[in-house]
Amino acid sequence: MKPDLKADFTQRAPIALNDPTLRRNFRRAMDGLMAKRAAQFPDPADWQEMRARGAAAKARVTARLPELLERLEARCKENGIQVHWAESTAQANAIVLDILQQAGARKVIKGKSMVSEEMELNHFLDGHGIKAVESDLGEYIIQLAGEAPSHIVMPCIHKNKGEIAELFAGNIEGLDYTEDVDALTAAARRVLRDEFASADAGISGVNFAVAETGTLVLVENEGNGRLSTTLPPLHIALMGIEKLAETLDDIPPLLALLPRSATGQPITTYVNMITSPRKPGEKDGPKAVHLVLLDSGRSRVYADEELRDTLRCIRCGACMNHCPVYSRVGGHTYKFVYPGPIGKILTPQLEGLDCAGDQPHASTLCNACVEICPVEIPIADLLVRLRTESVRPSDSPAVKGAGSRRNWRETLAWRGWKFMYSRSWAYGIATRLAARLGNLIPENAPLMRQWTSVRAKPKFAGKTLHELAREKGYDHE
Ligand code: SF4
Repeated sequence: MKPDLKADFTQRAPIALNDPTLRRNFRRAMDGLMAKRAAQFPDPADWQEMRARGAAAKARVTARLPELLERLEARCKENGIQVHWAESTAQANAIVLDILQQAGARKVIKGKSMVSEEMELNHFLDGHGIKAVESDLGEYIIQLAGEAPSHIVMPCIHKNKGEIAELFAGNIEGLDYTEDVDALTAAARRVLRDEFASADAGISGVNFAVAETGTLVLVENEGNGRLSTTLPPLHIALMGIEKLAETLDDIPPLLALLPRSATGQPITTYVNMITSPRKPGEKDGPKAVHLVLLDSGRSRVYADEELRDTLRCIRCGACMNHCPVYSRVGGHTYKFVYPGPIGKILTPQLEGLDCAGDQPHASTLCNACVEICPVEIPIADLLVRLRTESVRPSDSPAVKGAGSRRNWRETLAWRGWKFMYSRSWAYGIATRLAARLGNLIPENAPLMRQWTSVRAKPKFAGKTLHELAREKGYDHE
């Protein structure tokens, strides 16, 4: 069943929780990914040293983002890469369309790009008569299924072999139902080979853009990224403005962390470094390369010194794999492009708390994501900050939609709480009343219902802690 996109996270979650196939698919996948990642970081001291290096490299970027972006633009232009700035996803779409139309392109082959998901690019291009074909196997599968990715690294992780076999048998000509993974992969390869050969343009994401040299770094395992960026005559790279590294020397420590954290591999099969279009005398490579830099709310994130740590993210997905919430409900329950812990801090800042205010609350604050993040993003602190912003009076400029979850009942409750805790006589009366009358409150009382719908109501002791201590002879008054 598809999640209700209008409902709050707490209303959507039970749909996934009551889907045994989805639960099994995620549990199996997350257990495997956690074990593979753990095997890559056997020494805790080494791990701490590596992540400190990765965090420092990304922190240098977030400290000087505007300056480094200008440097990247200058280097790219010197190298022959055309650079475009897009303030919004609508602008980015218009830029891509314009480039494609000027080149007369009717079909594009795509490498994996989460920014293109943000832009809903495939849908947009389709509306303008341009066919976009996903070439990453996971993305290809969900494109056939007409779904959105449920994980930022493994987009079809929610599907099992049988579900993929059914999908392929129904969509790939001449293929009978088979759960043989080699046969399924070979069938996808056959279809995609033709698409690569006939595409007018290739579109890819960017893992890191190096400001020092104007190099676009792309990691991948299938070779589809390399084909998408070298075979067609035109390459368009899409990147969020935060995906920067200052120098080439920053790349090895970041590459040491990214695949290990993401898929438990020491290195990906392909590491592509693109620095220019095809040069005279070269036999392959696109004749033109364009880089589209997307802001879409990231400058606002950068403007806040605490929240800008969000921009360090290298999109490894490890926080999702280790999240007790994500691993039970899966990515679609979040309803936005970026699910899991990173999504809970990034989405409300990009989209606004008025539209994604439920996301920071979809967390137990257990800290698993913080311990696992290879670039030390203090996700739990940022979740608390965003929760605060969501109920702060709405004149707070830090986050769009701040104050949108503020309501008079909660405000009144916290004022009462503050009054009680700052006066010992009020605290004494309140705790005595709660101890005496607490058990009389019905389990499904309107104010309790949201809490008790998934928890048992606590049983009150009947006496306050002070009274119980006094009975035991510990009277400090
Ligand atoms: S927040 Fe950290 S763990 Fe999560 S995707 Fe980003 S870099 Fe990876």
